[in-house]
Amino acid sequence: MIIEDEKDIVRLLKYNLEKEGFVAMAAYDGEAGLDLARKEKPDLIILDLMLPKLDGMQVCRTLRQESQVPIIMLTAKKEEIDRIVGLELGADDYVTKPFSVRELMARVKTILRRSKPSSREDKIFKVGILEVDFSRYTVTIKGKPVALSSKEFEFLKILIQANGKALSRDQLLEQVWGHDPSFEIDTRTIDQHIARLRDKLGPEAKRVITVKNVGYRFDTE
Ligand code: CA
Repeated sequence: MIIEDEKDIVRLLKYNLEKEGFVAMAAYDGEAGLDLARKEKPDLIILDLMLPKLDGMQVCRTLRQESQVPIIMLTAKKEEIDRIVGLELGADDYVTKPFSVRELMARVKTILRRSKPSSREDKIFKVGILEVDFSRYTVTIKGKPVALSSKEFEFLKILIQANGKALSRDQLLEQVWGHDPSFEIDTRTIDQHIARLRDKLGPEAKRVITVKNVGYRFDTE
């Protein structure tokens, strides 16, 4: 789904997505985008920052409270990037305008590939009062749903699947963001994601353990 008010960009993206075999739909302002996303439950959203009615930040924040749908933000403002990627918003990726369609398509495919669970992961992990459903992308604490961004979910999944082994920040970076050398991410971004993940895990946050000078591990004891 594309949420963008510039019709030329929508047309360009739709054309390219459809050429790649995706079904694409569009909304032209923030409010309509939210409505359409709730109704259609897309696999991925390309969301522009500057939108009429409700801006991309508000749309992203609202969507994030409701689902873990992957979100790629489009932005013309370099100074917004920090907020988009790491911090409170929970977007999965961003592309700055003017962007290369080829690069955006590559990001779309990477994210979709990552969010499609393989059958091996098709299971439920339980420890303490925490329950993670890898196929449905849901996390609950004492049966109550926890709203994680798809990045946070990815971190949790990788840590859990490491079976108690410590993972370095570089390993986490590589596994979550892939090998894209054009995508510069600071390892501090990982610490920010982990901090938010811990916040959301409440009483089970203690399982996400900092390993000094290395990275993190997940305690299943
Ligand atoms: Ca716009």
